[in-house]
Amino acid sequence: MGNKPQRIGIMGGTFDPIHMGHLLMAESVRMDYDLDKVLFIPTGTSPHKDDSSISPAIDRYIMTMMATYSNPYFFVSPIERDRPGPSYTIDTVRALVAEYEPGTEFYFLTGTDAVLELHTWNNINELLDLCHFVAASRPGKVRTIEQEIERLGPKAVERIHRLTTPELEISSTDIRERVRLGKSIRYFVPENVEHYIHKEGLYRK
Ligand code: ATP
Ligand code: MG
Repeated sequence: MGNKPQRIGIMGGTFDPIHMGHLLMAESVRMDYDLDKVLFIPTGTSPHKDDSSISPAIDRYIMTMMATYSNPYFFVSPIERDRPGPSYTIDTVRALVAEYEPGTEFYFLTGTDAVLELHTWNNINELLDLCHFVAASRPGKVRTIEQEIERLGPKAVERIHRLTTPELEISSTDIRERVRLGKSIRYFVPENVEHYIHKEGLYRK
């Protein structure tokens, strides 16, 4: 009785590679929403991206593990990595809901850019029933997502929350490009991730 339900953050992404923007956003949302933990879930094969250009799931998983390891609130889930076929968020969230205690509250963390694509996601209505969304501000991306949220309907208005977080103008695309051009990625990614990228020869071409 009186036990507070657990609050679990879900941070989905391609994480190719994971970078300081992801980490700062997730830690900011964790603190603001008093989350008990944040699960980082690297995609297996993403339905939204051309797969041939994406690094192997195992490399992305290892980098995500390395980047989050020192944070006691951050965990990495292999749930999408191990699932054959494309990863759909609805399958992941359904599996998590089944795995955790009834009453657990789930918060799906996204940048504002991802909110603009929500209407293309599978079973978005059920997804909004199963979890809240926290749309964290992301620099350079469209800032006015209110219209898009309203277009998704009243459930979206209720379940998608906006949060202004400290902003880092970093993207994985930009990091891959920097490596390809031989530029430094120091301070864009955690040091151990930087070493992993160079050691494994990722993003050279
Ligand atoms: P890519 O350039 O390959 O698309 P990305 O940097 O956008 O990579 P993703 O793995 O696609 O990273 O993003 C995972 C989640 O993290 C998305 O919800 C995205 O909006 C969010 N995100 C990515 N970069 C940032 C950032 N700099 N600040 C806040 N949120 C971010
Ligand atoms: Mg992206």
